[in-house]
Amino acid sequence: MSVERRGLMFVLSSPSGAGKTTLSRLLIERMPGLKMSVSATTRPMRPGEVDGRDYLFVDQARFKQMVQRNELLEWATVFDNSYGTPRPPVEAALSAGQDVLFDIDWQGTQQLRERARADVVSVFILPPSAADLEKRLHSRAQDSDAVIRSRMSRATHELSHWAEYDYIVINHDVDEAFAEVQSILKAERLKRERRTGLTTFVRDLQRQLEK
Ligand code: 5GP
Repeated sequence: MSVERRGLMFVLSSPSGAGKTTLSRLLIERMPGLKMSVSATTRPMRPGEVDGRDYLFVDQARFKQMVQRNELLEWATVFDNSYGTPRPPVEAALSAGQDVLFDIDWQGTQQLRERARADVVSVFILPPSAADLEKRLHSRAQDSDAVIRSRMSRATHELSHWAEYDYIVINHDVDEAFAEVQSILKAERLKRERRTGLTTFVRDLQRQLEK
């Protein structure tokens, strides 16, 4: 019998190119009960991206409106573009006992933590080396050299926030990193304070034992 529990907010952050997108995709494919939060952004769509699946692509005016109407759970400016998490899908998933996966930066993670500390589990993904990070940014082949250079220089800044996270995973190998991230989620799901159905479960158990 499964024990009812409260959904958690599972956050993955990293400098871009550290493999976070691949890890997120694997988690969604392989972990039942986990739903991806689709962010809104003002950045242009990249080749291969799908509106509504990878992001909700919106213009500045719509993004501003979302902020003003308090429709975003958190939001931040990254690489001159605005990114934010639409609130309603997250609240619906959590109250249905589902977990939500967020691919957001350190600014968004701070905001989520301020709002819902007990429900947030955060993981920072580190690349094994600077050379590896650069190689991945180039192999992605979606961004111009200028964009890649600015992402490399941003990486130093993003890295400085590693100590604000609950867990750190070094992505030497994607399968190994995935297994680590998966273990974190599995263990966090078993935390006593999240398992709201435990009192009833144990009471029933005691009743059966007393018979
Ligand atoms: P990209 O443009 O490469 O898709 O994302 C750039 C950065 O923005 C990544 O570090 C990603 O985690 C972050 N990001 C994406 N969506 C959100 C969001 O909704 N909120 C915040 N704070 N950051 C986001």
